[in-house]
Amino acid sequence: MTDLPDRRLLLVHAHPDDESINNGATMARYAAEGAHVALVTCTLGERGEVIPPGLRHLAGPALGAHRRGELVAALRELGVEDVRLLGGAGRYGDSGMMGIPDNEDPDCFWQADLDEAAGSLAEVILELRPQVLVTYDDNGGYGHPDHIQAHRVAMRAVELADARGHRVQKVYWNRMPRSVAEAAFVRLQDELPGLPFAKTATVADLPGVVDDERITTTLDGGAYGAAKAAAMRAHVTQIDVAGSCFALSNELAQPLFTTEYYELVRGEARPGETDLFAGVTPEAS
Ligand SMILES: [Zn+2]
Repeated sequence: MTDLPDRRLLLVHAHPDDESINNGATMARYAAEGAHVALVTCTLGERGEVIPPGLRHLAGPALGAHRRGELVAALRELGVEDVRLLGGAGRYGDSGMMGIPDNEDPDCFWQADLDEAAGSLAEVILELRPQVLVTYDDNGGYGHPDHIQAHRVAMRAVELADARGHRVQKVYWNRMPRSVAEAAFVRLQDELPGLPFAKTATVADLPGVVDDERITTTLDGGAYGAAKAAAMRAHVTQIDVAGSCFALSNELAQPLFTTEYYELVRGEARPGETDLFAGVTPEAS
């Protein structure tokens, strides 16, 4: 493709909703600034728990189809049009939480052949030629099999694309600085009496929490907080948003962060980076 903008960002996520929770402000900001923002989601999340009682009849493929619609609606809020499902819709099934029998299903993403899945993603990389790729750390942020596998597939795809002529200049993992998480939960505890949730989650429940020194890049998405909240709200079956916090199906309140944090793991970080594209050259080759 020759008509893509100079700046191209690719995000790799496990399920519909992960993109909005982790990177909603980042995606909205770069889309608004004219960068090409593309998302590859690896599964449709058809084993997710459904929050609204009126939608709990949705399960399996019907839930996957519904969540696909939620994903498209969420991305509309973020101004992002390029969303793909790894290997095509339904190619990889949701593996469910770690340790459950669903992890053994040969069609689930956890059982995917790494090079085949990474090969599919490498094709997307070669088509879009992103300079920057965002995914999870090697524990998937919090240990979910599909998130761990998304990490493996993304990192392997970067290598495969490299061997075939496109070098992704910067790879970032989603992060949350421990001090920021701790302070946010202190504030949330104070606000709890006015919220529709009975309890808060804890820092241990958040994905990607690390010591502050590990953070290389801070994305101020304050101007895109409303877009991020709207995108999260579009994931009706999965997320309950209230003011500046939200809850997943466990009904535990957690902060909705509009500043998003990253650790650069490939490429050279500029000191105090506030832009994922800092230092990249327009044409990666
Ligand atoms: Zn997920």
